[in-house]
Amino acid sequence: MSEFHLYAIIVFIFGTVFGSFLNVVIYRVPRGENIAYPPSACPQCNTQIKAKHNIPVLSWFMLKGKCAYCGTSINKKYPIVEFISGVIALVIYLKVGEVWYVPSIIVFFLLLFALAIIDASEKKNQIPIYLSLALYIFGAISPYGIKNMIWAFLISLTLYSIKQKSIRKEDILTIGATVLVLGVVNAICMLLFLMAISYIPYSVWEEKEYREQNTFALTPYIFGATIIFYILDCYRFPL
Ligand SMILES: [Zn+2]
Repeated sequence: MSEFHLYAIIVFIFGTVFGSFLNVVIYRVPRGENIAYPPSACPQCNTQIKAKHNIPVLSWFMLKGKCAYCGTSINKKYPIVEFISGVIALVIYLKVGEVWYVPSIIVFFLLLFALAIIDASEKKNQIPIYLSLALYIFGAISPYGIKNMIWAFLISLTLYSIKQKSIRKEDILTIGATVLVLGVVNAICMLLFLMAISYIPYSVWEEKEYREQNTFALTPYIFGATIIFYILDCYRFPL
């Protein structure tokens, strides 16, 4: 096995472990709970989950999707989030390669993935502000992150001034963060694509009340569009 393959496996495992942390974030942050304490426990019998039962993806299969103590089913969304997180980390690593800022870009996309799930599942028109701000920190840790800050500010300002009903302040904050990793050209391409892919669900599928209350969950589309344009990299050297 080459060094490259070994690193790829390590990155995938890192992604699944981070995904396990994201499961905690996705559940607790919208409820205003502490993400570090108390340790994860079975929601049914309250038994604290042991390390050997907390291995990302694998534990769910070893326990056949059930709590080791009371046999209550464990939702399969947990191993799915862990597995997808591993895939996201691997894809970003394959794209960026062995550079010093690859961990921050991976964490950026994993946090954006968590925000997308929170936005899609909570339907409360509430995006945790600390998670959005964390995106800016990890997005800025790259050779062109600081330079892109000015573009992030200008694009956010433009969006804010032409703000349509479907776009919330929170969405503008998230889009601003994506400019840090995309650069201005890729970000503009991403925004056009975002408008195209979110238009139909916004106008047809989303329930009327969510539209009227301005709670359309745009973050999953922002996540999808951003990762696609990061990988495509239509303009190789972000301004
Ligand atoms: Zn249990």
